[in-house]
Amino acid sequence: MKKTRTPVSLLLCTLLALLMLLMLLPLGTVSFAAEDPSNPSHEGRDCEWDKGRTITVPTCTTPGEVKYTCKINALHTKTEAIPATNHDYEWTITKNSTATAPGTATAVCKNNPAHTESMTIPARGTAVEVGYCGTGLNHAYYALYEDGTLFVFGAGAIKAFAFMGREDVHALVIGDGITEIGSSAFAFCRFESIDFGNTLETIGSLAFYDCDGFEEVLLPDSVKDVGDCAFGLSSNLKKVVFGRNVELVGDCALLQCYELKQSVFLNRDTIIVEKEHPAPVQEGATPNLLRTINGGTVYGYAGGSVEAYANEKGLPFVALDAEGHAFDDGVVTTKPTCTEDGVETFTCAVCGDSYTAPVAATGHEWSEWIVSINPTEQHEGQAYRYCKNGCKQIETKTIDKLPETNEEGGNIFQQILDWVQSFFDRIGEAFRNLFRF
Ligand SMILES: [Zn+2]
Ligand SMILES: [Zn+2]
Ligand SMILES: [Zn+2]
Ligand SMILES: [Zn+2]
Repeated sequence: MKKTRTPVSLLLCTLLALLMLLMLLPLGTVSFAAEDPSNPSHEGRDCEWDKGRTITVPTCTTPGEVKYTCKINALHTKTEAIPATNHDYEWTITKNSTATAPGTATAVCKNNPAHTESMTIPARGTAVEVGYCGTGLNHAYYALYEDGTLFVFGAGAIKAFAFMGREDVHALVIGDGITEIGSSAFAFCRFESIDFGNTLETIGSLAFYDCDGFEEVLLPDSVKDVGDCAFGLSSNLKKVVFGRNVELVGDCALLQCYELKQSVFLNRDTIIVEKEHPAPVQEGATPNLLRTINGGTVYGYAGGSVEAYANEKGLPFVALDAEGHAFDDGVVTTKPTCTEDGVETFTCAVCGDSYTAPVAATGHEWSEWIVSINPTEQHEGQAYRYCKNGCKQIETKTIDKLPETNEEGGNIFQQILDWVQSFFDRIGEAFRNLFRF
């Protein structure tokens, strides 16, 4: 007799197969159970999802989950993760810092008072405000000091919009350990100076948009990416140096920085992005205003993408030497004199470094010989010449006696006359020289 399967084992097999099928499906995707006969199949049409129902509430540190159900067939469901909320800390300065001693601050999470944290306030003066400015669970903190200096320290990224529009910040200092500045993090700020530190790699889009305080941006070699419009509309910006490892400068990075005189690229192959913009964007605006670099001189190594960009946009290009300098043709800073060398100073337009070279002494420029004492048959004469460069040098020489003539030479009266005349000649010359100088 053939052994047949009982209905119970059949059911078990089906369930097992179904379970295996379900396990194959990746989490968080749509799951199709068997069609509900009361709900018509909507083959060829997308599901119509309801508003969703939170099935796991996110906490500060763990994500939650929301479940959606199809309005056409309730057996179609999908789940989506809700990101962790992160802590919402309230910071209190428990011991303030001074210029020489660090302080401390503690934080209690508004979402859950069991979450607490503390920080050491760096010794940079008296802090007026401290807090957390990171993204997710990284450890970027800030302290704003009495003098208006904002110091960002710790590690990781500064979150997007973190300090947007903070007009009370006068100087920004980014500590080592910070690697990224989020989008718009410092847009519409007014600080006069920025120290980017030495670990920053990424500057987000619009990060310093419409900041009109600072005149210089000197990016460290650690920076790789500068986002779209990162320094756009920085109306006092005169000089930007993109470091040796900048790979990408985003579209409109220096948009409408009309005071810009120098943009320096220490990586010859930096890609300067410039997208095609539908023009004109606003009435009266010309399309080429939406440029990555609007003006000034571009400094870079010859032959790379930077030079190609400058040429394409008609921007003046100056090639850097092997060390990254762009020295001028030299200016005489100490004039040479007739006898002493002068100094010529060559200055780098990029970093301001300078070196000097000697300028050879000019030597005297002599006048013609001028006779101060006429020679006679009895006496030698004298002549002098002076330096026309005004160094007050005079040279004299003797003029030989006149050859004797056969005429009666012993006339004492004539000799006295000659002598008197030469005496007055000498005084006259002396006067003339005095007034010449
Ligand atoms: Zn559906
Ligand atoms: Zn919390
Ligand atoms: Zn230089
Ligand atoms: Zn001279």
